[in-house]
Amino acid sequence: MRIFQHISIKHKLILIIMLTSSVTLLLTSAAFVIKDVVMFYHALLRDLCSLTQVIGMNSEGALLFNDPRTAAKNLESLGAMPYVFSACIYDKKGEAFAAYFRKDAPKDTSPPPIASGHYYKKIRNKKYLFFFKPILLETETIGTVFIQYDLEERNFKMREAGIIFLAVMAMAVFCVSFILSHILQGIISAPILHLAQIARTVSKEKDYSVRAKRCCEYHWNEIGILSDGFNEMLTEIQAQEKELIRHRGHLEEEVVSRTAELLRTNEELVRAKNAAENANRAKSEFLANMSHEIRTPMNAVLGFTDLLHSLATDPKQKNYIESIRSSGRSLLTLINDILDLSKIEAGKMELQYEPVDIYSLINEIRHIFSLKIAEKELEFVTDIADDIPRSLLLDEVRLRQVLFNLVGNAVKFTHKGYIRLSATKIYTEGNMSRVELILAVEDTGIGISPESGEKIFDAFKQQEGQDTRQYGGTGLGLAITKRLVEMMGGKISVRSEPGRGSVFEIALHHVPVAAVPVKSKKDGTAGESLILFEKALILVVDDIATNRNLIREFFLDTPISVIEAEDGDKAVTAAGRYKPDVILMDIRMPVMDGYEAARRIRKIEAIKDIPVIALTASGMKEEKDKTLKQGFDGFLTKPIQRSELFEELAKFITHSKKEAPERAEKIEITEPVSPETMEKLPELTDKLENELMRKWDSARKNSFFDEISVFADQVKGLGEVFGMSVLRKYGEELAGHVSSFDIENMNATLDAYPKLVGKIVSLRSKGG
Ligand code: ADP
Repeated sequence: MRIFQHISIKHKLILIIMLTSSVTLLLTSAAFVIKDVVMFYHALLRDLCSLTQVIGMNSEGALLFNDPRTAAKNLESLGAMPYVFSACIYDKKGEAFAAYFRKDAPKDTSPPPIASGHYYKKIRNKKYLFFFKPILLETETIGTVFIQYDLEERNFKMREAGIIFLAVMAMAVFCVSFILSHILQGIISAPILHLAQIARTVSKEKDYSVRAKRCCEYHWNEIGILSDGFNEMLTEIQAQEKELIRHRGHLEEEVVSRTAELLRTNEELVRAKNAAENANRAKSEFLANMSHEIRTPMNAVLGFTDLLHSLATDPKQKNYIESIRSSGRSLLTLINDILDLSKIEAGKMELQYEPVDIYSLINEIRHIFSLKIAEKELEFVTDIADDIPRSLLLDEVRLRQVLFNLVGNAVKFTHKGYIRLSATKIYTEGNMSRVELILAVEDTGIGISPESGEKIFDAFKQQEGQDTRQYGGTGLGLAITKRLVEMMGGKISVRSEPGRGSVFEIALHHVPVAAVPVKSKKDGTAGESLILFEKALILVVDDIATNRNLIREFFLDTPISVIEAEDGDKAVTAAGRYKPDVILMDIRMPVMDGYEAARRIRKIEAIKDIPVIALTASGMKEEKDKTLKQGFDGFLTKPIQRSELFEELAKFITHSKKEAPERAEKIEITEPVSPETMEKLPELTDKLENELMRKWDSARKNSFFDEISVFADQVKGLGEVFGMSVLRKYGEELAGHVSSFDIENMNATLDAYPKLVGKIVSLRSKGG
């Protein structure tokens, strides 16, 4: 049946018609043949009956007069009938009286024993009919006639004729039925083939205007319905196609007009955005200028207020001056906060990432607040997890500002109990190069009401009903803190219970572990290497750009050139292209890690001998063993000390040794001092050595930002009043360090004060 599926409808129809007519013909012929055979046997028996009757009648006399010769003669007449094989006349007793045998009968043939009626028998594979007929005289049987009829011979002839007849018939039927079916199948197949042809044209040429031809003779039958349905379908599709084309045209117009509209809106938006940005910039600039403009005279106001305070003797006047001083300081703090917030909002504040040591940062904060905490009889607990890397890439100044605000608030709003500053970290899964840093400030203070909740992070927002006289403040600290934390890619959250305390938590995400240690500002020679390298090229591979820059900085004053790659794959390419003398390879990197990169480098003939030093954030022994086993020539743990790195590189790069250099002094009076200043020098040195020295002493001990800021302003004020620029510059520098929370430089500048005073005092001796 499968073959049928692939035959065309036309051929299928021809086959069906021919098959049907052939089967019909076959069945009819079979019926005819059967009927003929039956009739033949009937006629044969009838003929034999007549024949034996005639022979019997002719042989009656011979039997009565016992004349076998006449009887035999009678039988011989059967020689004219070719199918009579043998014949015999039996006498009354049933004995053979006379016999006849066809010429081709074998010699030993003898008549069969007498029987009645007829029967069929096969002898030597040939079928014979044995026919017996009694010879009656009146009613008495006087003998029997027997004939053996050769059916085989007769049948063979008949079969031959039948086959010829059938073959002729079959040929005739085949030809006629083929021709007829060929002509007639067209009635059904032609319209279907026509439909198929149309469907092909439609699908190929997408021409929906063609239609199937309608013949009236099919009008009422299924083919007519099919072709009507097909045409209707085409009409429908054509209409839809037209509609679609119309829509498309319309859509294109629509798109063009919408795009134009969008472009117009975009332009307007860009204009509006630029205008808004300009306005915002103008606002920030205005605020920055204003703050600066207010800050400058405020410094003078505060400076002179302090001078006035020391001159005033009347307690009432002293009290007034005290009020001016404290209001002035509050105003200065407010202006500084507004300046910070406007800078952040105008996107003008940029973070400066550098290696930061969380341990020393937290200790600094502890130091700053130690006096206040002692005054309030609180406990200050710091809790730093041991596994925090000693060097993380952060903006130290801003992080200090954040912690300063949070701890400052905690101290302000806590009256008994403790303040706890903790730092923990979580490694991001499978990545030892970055950590999640959690910093938390916990206190047992007044707590925050649920209604105030997140509102306290908005600018100028404080808890409702808060005693302004007792706590003061501007409500800007947390707004600045939140924005700074977000700029660092982190989140700040608060949990609190009124009356029991609060926990402010900062989560900084993906903080990179710095490749180099925190720079020591006090000791310039720390990490200074005594190794003098010759010219060489180093490839630094690290996914964090700051880390690559920090390592690059190590080589600034050396003849070593540095090239960089940000992942293993780029490292292999760069190594192949530039053939560096040494490769410093970070282990955890996206795209391709350090292990895989080292493996590849080892497989490339031209670069396989370049020494590769692994840089890892984990100092674990297993990691070291693993890296050394995996084709690395050296191993350094982050943060990498310059001296360590140089020692390691010295194993692979040609070098010599040098002596350690000396450090130069910083403070110098470079500008000439005017005669008026020289005149007032005793008064100035008196103030510097006594009154200000006491203030300096207190500021240095307490490390209160406010106090140091006032001290700086006073020195600057004196510089301006006495026309001594070195003092003014010193004051400005110190104030700058205070406002940027740069504690290390602030302390260093503060420490230099006695030396500065000494230099000014020595002027007096020179002048006098
Ligand atoms: P300021 O401290 O100048 O008022 P902040 O923005 O730092 O401004 O804080 C906003 C408000 O949040 C505070 O006025 C106070 O109501 C509340 N707050 C902040 N920290 C704490 C704390 N540790 N305990 C209780 N309340 C706090």
